[in-house]
Parts: sequence; C-alpha cells; structure tokens
Amino acid sequence: MAKGIQLYLNAGLLSGIASEIAEGADGIGLYRTEIPFMLHQRFPSESEQIDVYKQVLSAAGERPVVMRTLDVGGDKPLPYFPIKEDNPFLGWRGIRLSLDHPELFLVQLRAMLQAAGKGNQLQILLPMVSNLDEIDQTLTYLEQAFTELNQELNTILVRPKVGVMLEVPALLYQLHDVAKRVDFVSVGSNDLTQYLLAVDRNNPSVSSLFDSYHPGILRALKMAVDECKQYDLDVSVCGELAGEPYGALLLVAMGYHKLSMNQASLARINYLLRRVSQQELSELLSTVLCQSNGQQVRTLLGQFLQQHDLADLINP
Ligand code: PEP
Ligand code: MG
Repeated sequence: MAKGIQLYLNAGLLSGIASEIAEGADGIGLYRTEIPFMLHQRFPSESEQIDVYKQVLSAAGERPVVMRTLDVGGDKPLPYFPIKEDNPFLGWRGIRLSLDHPELFLVQLRAMLQAAGKGNQLQILLPMVSNLDEIDQTLTYLEQAFTELNQELNTILVRPKVGVMLEVPALLYQLHDVAKRVDFVSVGSNDLTQYLLAVDRNNPSVSSLFDSYHPGILRALKMAVDECKQYDLDVSVCGELAGEPYGALLLVAMGYHKLSMNQASLARINYLLRRVSQQELSELLSTVLCQSNGQQVRTLLGQFLQQHDLADLINP
C-alpha cells in the first residue's frame, strides 16, 4: 500500500453523511455549502446555517470537516440571486461574490464559527481565489467575526484552520505567498483543468478537450504538490480526479497524501491504493509525465491496472 494516504469525503447534502463517513472516510475533505443554499428559497439565516453546519460536524463524529464558503456563480446559480453574465466561469463567482457582499459573507463565517464552538473539527476553505488580496480580506472578515462572537457570547471560540482552493492557475505561481497566509491548499482539479486548458467544463462541444490527464495538467499538479511541500503547506485534492482510479494512482505517485472524493468512489480507491506500492507508482509517473497527450497517459494507466489484475476497477 502506498503509505499514509488519507481518504476524505466530498459532501453537500446532509442525508447519508454519517453512514458514508462510517464506511471509512478520514473526515469530510469538501463540504459544499452552496448545496444547502440552493435548497432554500432565500438566503438561509444565521441560525438556519448554524443548524446545518452543526449537523454536518456532528455527522462527521470527531473527524475534520473542511467547509467551503459559498461557491455560487459559474455553473451554480441560486434561484433567488440571479446573475446574468456572458462568461459566468470567468465572472462573479466564489470568493469574489462573497467579498462583494460582506453582509452575507459575515453571516456565513459567523455561522461556521458558532457551529464549531470550542471544537477543533472545522476548517474553512475559500473557493475561486485568484489573488492574495482576497485571502487577506477574508482573513480580516474572519477575524472580525471571531472577535465579535467572542464578545457577544463571552467565550473564546477555537480559531479554525483556513485554506484556499487551488483552481485559478495564477495561484500556482504564488504558493510561497499563499503559505504565509493560510494553513492548507485544496486542489480543485475540475476548475484547474478548465482554466489551464481554456475549456468550459460544461460545454458539450468541447468536452473531448476537457482532460485532466493532459500532460500539461499533470505537470501543474506535480508542481503544486512539490511547491506545497517546499513551503510546508498542507495540500489535498478534492476535484473529480481524486476519485478516479487513474487519477488517484497518479496523485499518490506525485506525493499527494490526502484525496477527497464522492462516496461512490471511496471504497474503490481504498481497495486500489492498498494494492500498489509507492515504488511502482513512482516508476509509472516518470513514464506518464513523458507522454504527449492524455490518451497515451490513459493507455499506460490501463496497462498498469491490467498488470496488477485491477482492470475491473475501470469496467466493473
Ligand atoms: C473543483 O473545481 O475541482 C472543485 C472541487 O470545485 P467544484 O467542482 O465544486 O467547482
Ligand atoms: Mg471548483
């Protein structure tokens, strides 16, 4: 088994979290808060949010929960907050929207802090960060929420760890500065692929070009993990790639130790990673990184699985 690998759950709906965690996840690596927002007819109030976040934390038992702040815009509209844009994926989404609406953002941060109380399970993750100022502004709001709550509740809450999604390519080149500001990075391979390849992830006309196995994407992912290690920045992957057998093999080969995925992938990836060694993965990766396109990469990975009698994981 590739050593010390932790597998986390991606979640958004409340139902099923407790049993999914019990099936062997090390925690929740991505809780998409936009899902409960989408299920409402209006912005949920602070107390409604506290209630949802408490349920998520308690469903995870004692294990860590990475809660992402609202990531609407792009392909995720809120029915009660319509946004009309020509290029929604390059537009007003994720942290941009939250920072333009501090009254909403502060409510969400306050709700998260109150749900976590004095426990240390909560970690806060920021989506679609494209520059360092967004991190600094967020940390200021978080500090404001923290100070106000401690006064209002006459207590000392626990300061959560804070992380950013690595989805916008420019941030790849600023990891040294990111590391001075936050505790961890979570690679959003879905959006990172979309932005590195300039391919709309939801446009069927170019879907064949959306390829996370493109050698350029793989090199970017390798660079990200190497740089994070260099700067002592905790790093995980929470995009779809982490839950795919080929993707999980490559990410572990690169040196990622934390993968977060949908419940449907957990058992399969756990089974797979127990049957391969880091040594053979390193050899595989060196060959993979020399390929010239994603198809060649997939062919090599298919052969690797066949040699290990694991091809059924791809075509069960
Ligand atoms: C990603 O972009 O990889 C990601 C996990 O975020 P989402 O799919 O919610 O945009
Ligand atoms: Mg994303």
